[in-house]
Amino acid sequence: MLKVGVNGYGTIGKRVADAVCAQPDMELVGVAKTRPNFEAETAVRNGYSLYAALPERVDQFDDAGVPLAGVVDDLVAESDVVVDTTPSGIGAQNRELYERHDTPAIFQGGEDADIADVSFNARANYDEATGAQFVRTVSCNTTGLSRLLAPLDETYGVKKARVTLVRRGGDPGQTGRGPINDILPDPVTLPSHHGPDVQTIFPELNIDTLGLKVPATLMHTHSVNVTLESTPAAEEVRDLLAGESRLFFVPKHAGIDGAGKLKEFAMDAGRPRGDLWENCIWEESIAVQDDDLYLFQAIHQESDVIPENIDAVRAITGSASKEESIALTNESLGVGL
Ligand code: NAD
Repeated sequence: MLKVGVNGYGTIGKRVADAVCAQPDMELVGVAKTRPNFEAETAVRNGYSLYAALPERVDQFDDAGVPLAGVVDDLVAESDVVVDTTPSGIGAQNRELYERHDTPAIFQGGEDADIADVSFNARANYDEATGAQFVRTVSCNTTGLSRLLAPLDETYGVKKARVTLVRRGGDPGQTGRGPINDILPDPVTLPSHHGPDVQTIFPELNIDTLGLKVPATLMHTHSVNVTLESTPAAEEVRDLLAGESRLFFVPKHAGIDGAGKLKEFAMDAGRPRGDLWENCIWEESIAVQDDDLYLFQAIHQESDVIPENIDAVRAITGSASKEESIALTNESLGVGL
């Protein structure tokens, strides 16, 4: 059994912890939290061992009556791998902690690429993470683009990708984020950081990305144009993408016109937290004009990186092949709508 610790128990961390518990080959050592808020209490209620991320705050947990199993050093010492799901920039500060314990760690997309030996997407470059000390699971948007671009590049060759990312202003729990009544080019200048981030996975890829931020919390939406090296029919591209386990086609008959109904669908389907681990591609939007492919896809920012973090644990430890790990993660979580 792989012993996994989760440092940082917020939007991504709580989902990673639940996903670790769903794996037949993994055991959750526990989760680390900075303060005894509702998430800390829920972790304890779920039966997760809770560790104080900041040792000087142990008293706060004691005062709140939230029981601790130890401090973060203990968590790291007991873990074979730590998934660091702290806010952007904190992971870089934590690297020294993992180095001190000689414990491999998986960082998130909010960290700079140079924090890790390899930036990771299971579909695109699983094997590059094997034996690494530090791996970075790329961001929600980069994960969504990598899953799409990998099969396209392998099968047709990508001459140039152009993607406009319409990004949610914040996650549902992020009350301080915005805009609340605006549409912001973000950034105004080309490129947005997403293109260079995709190139951490595909160094040779020619890609331009533009970003906007809108008053929404549910999902991101990508308007995708990929110029291919060849000229397949739209049906061929659709068949190719249909064979990818983490791409979900929104069928015409479903009447799903946007992120609101997608999330409703996920909740009706009994998905935990209404999560959508897959890219959600509108099947009808897949079109080819000469060598240009077009489509729309929605990306659930809170959950699409979760299966990737689970695969990263197996990749970094070399405990399973790419195919074995992806299949096991998909089966244990129920990926594939
Ligand atoms: P979050 O703020 O929801 O959760 C972070 C958690 O870490 C919080 O519980 C916070 O209290 C805790 N924390 C703060 N300082 C800490 C410390 N020193 N030690 C341990 N824990 C600490 O953030 P998030 O949205 O889960 O993002 C985490 C990472 O995942 C970031 O790199 C982010 O860019 C990336 N990411 C986020 C999303 C998203 O949409 N939320 C998607 C993909 C990737």
